[in-house]
Amino acid sequence: MKQGQGPRAISMLPAQEPAPRSGLLAHVAVAVGGRGPDQLFTYEVPAKWVGAVAPGQRVQVPFGNRELIGVVFAVGDEPPPAGMRVRPLADLVDREPCLDAHMLDLARWLAERTLCSLAQAASALLPPPGSEPRPQICYNPLPGVDPGRALARAPAQSRAWAVISAEPGLARDELLQRGVKPGALAALVERGWVAALPREGRRDPWVETPAHELPQAPPEPTPDQERALESLRPALQEPHYGGFLLWGVTGSGKTEVYLRAIAEVVRAGRQAIVLVPEIALTPQTVGNFRRRFGTQVAVLHSALGVGERHAEWLRARQGEVAVVIGARSAVFAPLPRLGLIVVDEEHEPSYKQEEAPRYHARDVALWRAQRLGIPVILGSATPDLETFDAAQRGELERLDLPARVAARPLPEVRTVDLRDEAESALFAPELHQALERHLGSGHQVLLFLNRRGFAPVLLCRACGFVSRCQQCEVAMCYHDSDHSLHCHYCGARGAVPRTCPRCRGHMLRLRGLGTERVAQEVSRLFPQARVLRMDLDTTGSKGAHRRIYEDFRAGRADVLVGTQMVAKGWDVAGVTLVGVVDADTALHHPDYRGSERTFQLLCQVAGRAGRGEEPGEVLIQTRTPEHPAIIAAATHDYAGFARQELAARAAASFPPFGRLLRILSWAPEAHAAESALRAVADALREIVPPGVDLWGPAQAPLARLRGAYRWHLALRGADGTELRRLARTALDAAGTPKTGARLAADPDPQSML
Ligand code: ADP
Ligand code: ZN
Repeated sequence: MKQGQGPRAISMLPAQEPAPRSGLLAHVAVAVGGRGPDQLFTYEVPAKWVGAVAPGQRVQVPFGNRELIGVVFAVGDEPPPAGMRVRPLADLVDREPCLDAHMLDLARWLAERTLCSLAQAASALLPPPGSEPRPQICYNPLPGVDPGRALARAPAQSRAWAVISAEPGLARDELLQRGVKPGALAALVERGWVAALPREGRRDPWVETPAHELPQAPPEPTPDQERALESLRPALQEPHYGGFLLWGVTGSGKTEVYLRAIAEVVRAGRQAIVLVPEIALTPQTVGNFRRRFGTQVAVLHSALGVGERHAEWLRARQGEVAVVIGARSAVFAPLPRLGLIVVDEEHEPSYKQEEAPRYHARDVALWRAQRLGIPVILGSATPDLETFDAAQRGELERLDLPARVAARPLPEVRTVDLRDEAESALFAPELHQALERHLGSGHQVLLFLNRRGFAPVLLCRACGFVSRCQQCEVAMCYHDSDHSLHCHYCGARGAVPRTCPRCRGHMLRLRGLGTERVAQEVSRLFPQARVLRMDLDTTGSKGAHRRIYEDFRAGRADVLVGTQMVAKGWDVAGVTLVGVVDADTALHHPDYRGSERTFQLLCQVAGRAGRGEEPGEVLIQTRTPEHPAIIAAATHDYAGFARQELAARAAASFPPFGRLLRILSWAPEAHAAESALRAVADALREIVPPGVDLWGPAQAPLARLRGAYRWHLALRGADGTELRRLARTALDAAGTPKTGARLAADPDPQSML
């Protein structure tokens, strides 16, 4: 049995009233800081609970003079080390374990892998709060469905349909009383005509699903799709581990491969998890799954209320759903007969959680698949270079969809050199003419700029003063909608000064562009065009994103101006022109992934053009047309880009040719942040072996964020396990900073800002 290395919870105080002793001990993870998988605290199981305490259960425990809730990881009866008095458990929270052995293993792995405490790792896997009694499931016909003739030869289903449409909202028992056959009910649910929903508290976001998203016959797979499915089939049918990279160009029909693979798993009585980058941004993908699997799909997203989330979690654990679809945390869905995990758009940075536990959902997906012996599909048109490299080394099997469906060509992409243009021009003549052409012929246009607001900088031309956030030391962005300055990091707002706060001059000018300004300019140049804008500012209210998307998709707007929100997997047939207003926004990031991110974003956004009957055209405005990422995006040359970028990474021993681990410190005083990190660096210098580099400590590129000063360092080495061990040892040696500074380790960081 593992014993804690950190502070032991074993109390040195005599227990007040000696309870009857059972000799049984529970080893419990408690949220009291610390990191790594071994930090368990030992308690005695009182005689009255012997047999009622098992690993995976939540319990209440005395801790110092408080009581905390923890998770039991092990139960055993070997005596505690001599001389240690063990306090008894205070109470049981669950009657039954809420984490099974697989989930407990996953928590241990997460704690080691992300250097968080076992309790933090477990909390990511526990049911969302809320414990109201399980709502009763009731059955409703989906609006707009008319199975009509399709049921002619299924009399039992036909009768069930008649009962349900005459009296929607009945519970299962009530339906059975009215003569509905259980099999027929299940068939209607499976076919997506009838929704099975908890009677109360659960809003079904799909009740308003537009008619074009309702059940329809799936298309015949293309030969490429069929070949991919052929390779997947053995692992789908006779479950065993298989890691697959589904590398398909934009519009190649990756979703159809997922749908068919999942259908096989579901048919065999197993379940699937589908991860999408951000659930709110992928109404179409979710719609596709609803169409195919009806209400056997549980959608986990942040817009659900607490009780609703709890209900969905329970539905998943009780095996009442076949497919769970959600953003990164859905990778922890507790499905009892998991048979497949799909990670769509696997290159998306949002799969990494940037707070403890700092996991990457793709890594968790791979770990679970390996542990459970099931397949995992990572899909993308622009795979993460590390994923692509893994496929080249044979760690993943590559499934290629090299062409768009229905012989649609990839759009023609041209770059427009902005260096020849006046700095104030938003659109070079080429893009302007293309806008005229496409709008004139009644087509739709997507304009992409990865920066919201009106202008990112307010600058004094006399003295060089730039308006900065007082909390974050970054330039504040001017927003025309409320005529104020916004900090995009902390949300602070400020009034626009009339004169320069430094020199009192009248030379304040706006510099640069954001989506607000682009949308205004389009309206000015093309007064007839109906213009929509999609960015964080226009999608704040509930359902706003979906409304804008539906309006655009239905042709109720001609131009959509947006940030990376519009680049995510959209399939809008009317779009023939995509204009990238400024391709360079991420290129000069102080981050080794800047070039990869730029390439991915450009390919993805370009991939939105020409998905209908009409071919597409893409114009990319840039001041660095010779940049390899931009050239590769313009020629749809992922393989070429990967070759070049991987060679550069190899030369610098950057991932995937070396691993990184970043340690960040932050504190309200600059000195505290610095000294806390220096203490860790000193501890590291003592132990870092040859072959591992220590960079820093240094100020983080975002030197101040939300009022906190930030310092960081990085370790680079060949072996991730070794880096994590070094970091853990150094952090433990340096101890908790007395100054109140906070420290966090981030293995395999996605961002170095
Ligand atoms: P990707 O995710 O690879 O960019 P999608 O999954 O969005 O591509 O598919 C692009 C379009 O092709 C969608 O409209 C989809 O319905 C359609 N599609 C997919 N597979 C087929 C097929 N086998 N036959 C006809 N159309 C298909
Ligand atoms: Zn700020």
